Amino acid sequence: MSVTQSTFAEIGQALRDHQTFAILSHVRPDGDALGSQLALALSLEQLGKTVRVWNEDGMIEKYNFLPRAALLSKPPAQKEEVDLVVALDTAVQTRLGTAIESVGSARMLINIDHHPSNPRYGDLVFIDPVSPATGQILFELISDQKLPMTPEIAENLYVAISTDTGSFQYPNTTARTFEIAAELIRAGVDVGRVSQLLYENYPRRRVELLRELLGTMRFAGQGRVASFSLSLAMTKRLGVLPEDNEGLIDHLRAIRGVIVAVFFEELPEGKVRVSMRSKSSEADVCAICMKFGGGGHKLAAGARVRGTLAEVEQKVLEAICDVVDCQS
Ligand code: 5GP
Ligand code: MN
Repeated sequence: MSVTQSTFAEIGQALRDHQTFAILSHVRPDGDALGSQLALALSLEQLGKTVRVWNEDGMIEKYNFLPRAALLSKPPAQKEEVDLVVALDTAVQTRLGTAIESVGSARMLINIDHHPSNPRYGDLVFIDPVSPATGQILFELISDQKLPMTPEIAENLYVAISTDTGSFQYPNTTARTFEIAAELIRAGVDVGRVSQLLYENYPRRRVELLRELLGTMRFAGQGRVASFSLSLAMTKRLGVLPEDNEGLIDHLRAIRGVIVAVFFEELPEGKVRVSMRSKSSEADVCAICMKFGGGGHKLAAGARVRGTLAEVEQKVLEAICDVVDCQS
């Protein structure tokens, strides 16, 4: 049963009517997940609410600079009672991971997201599949409902939107996205400073990882499909953290002629994390990932697939070749 779309007024009312909140997002969080969590939590805090901000992975090193980052933690071992749970940027409820397990009970679950594959779980649901970032939906909610906005909230929303639009470059970036960015700058965001923290502050490890990954780069379909792979051995040898590879797939997508880019990452539990990007709406990588139990967006999607690295590489590349004609 899918739940009908709630209005901002209904969600605003639910937020105002309750006192204690757990604000959650998906495992392996990205800038949109963490920035959205902190932004909503800070706005609710301004209203005098008690907020818990939990993510299975806690705050990750590269986003430590986010305003009030310390508010975000791993879920506690002991369950806590809250009035209301908000799931942000999370395409399926299971991707909340252990964060949801720390909620003892709650009156209501609000699901705010922009993934088209979101099955509309929860009691109040707001899914905008054309919005480039959950952070953009939150900006609209905050403005519409006149919820508090501060420079700290603005910076968290700016990071959410900047990271999910590939720094305002992906095709889901609209005039509205730039209008919102302008509003956030007026609300106090220092673009130069934030951009440097986001895009010119990588640990050397990440670039060393890129060097290794490029060594495994291969092409299929006359250069329309590009992939590279990270084995567990490589992860161990370089001492890389899971967050280090976020965005490295863009080096494959950036190659002229490439339509689908794929990144394979061997995980400890006998699975492979597959990350896919497309440059053409005709190559819908969400549809391909859904065949493997994953999901996401048309142009950016992922899945976790059981099997060895070599097995998963072969299966997934075959599935891509069914869509992107690899023979011609
Ligand atoms: P990324 O490649 O950056 O990890 O993920 C790209 C997009 O695909 C994100 O929007 C993410 O939510 C979605 N995604 C990644 N992995 C999975 C997965 O295992 N399952 C589902 N349903 N979506 C995923
Ligand atoms: Mn997102």
